[in-house]
Amino acid sequence: MAFNKTWKFNVIAGGGLTENDVFSWIQQARIPLWFDFQFSPEKCKWHVDCSETYGCWPKPDYEWTFIVVRPTNITNGLHMKNASGLGWPEGFCVTADFGEDPETLGLRIWHEALHSMSSNSDMLNPGVTPNDIESFRNFVETSDLFRNDATITSFLNKPINHPNNAVLRAYYYFKMQHDLGCPALPLPPVSPSPPATISLLERFMKWFLRLFGK
Ligand SMILES: [Zn+2]
Repeated sequence: MAFNKTWKFNVIAGGGLTENDVFSWIQQARIPLWFDFQFSPEKCKWHVDCSETYGCWPKPDYEWTFIVVRPTNITNGLHMKNASGLGWPEGFCVTADFGEDPETLGLRIWHEALHSMSSNSDMLNPGVTPNDIESFRNFVETSDLFRNDATITSFLNKPINHPNNAVLRAYYYFKMQHDLGCPALPLPPVSPSPPATISLLERFMKWFLRLFGK
């Protein structure tokens, strides 16, 4: 398999998160193998980038890198707000809160990777102008992978903000092809769900944070 792009990542302030969690989210999202993902802490340098709207995020110093961070673990001047991920031309950052669904987290990585490659992955929502729902509809109607999916058809009949994961997967797949020239690759197979989405350490941390009102 010839990958087109390798994304290197690191987990910081993870509160028990490991690279294996991130790989499992990527599997659950079923991101086509056009992207390759490697855990590479030494290659993923970052600095704190602050803005009025989004607070202070770990912004990658190098292209094709991203950072995964727990929003509740505020260290090193970080204080993320008003978004669950941010993308820059250099790379991106995603937050992963306690108990979030692995598939949702994988789709978040896919979403921000598209942003970093100048593909506007926000343009599905009816509230966003301009949106590209019509070209997405044309894509779905001719796609063997997606045209028989009832949730996607129902979304296209009545677009809503916050579509479900099946719609997001099809949309990001469409954006990869339409905006970035990815070939029509198969979706990776559905992988079995991890036995527990929250580890014991995570449960303890959650309890601990709640106890002390954080
Ligand atoms: Zn976005």
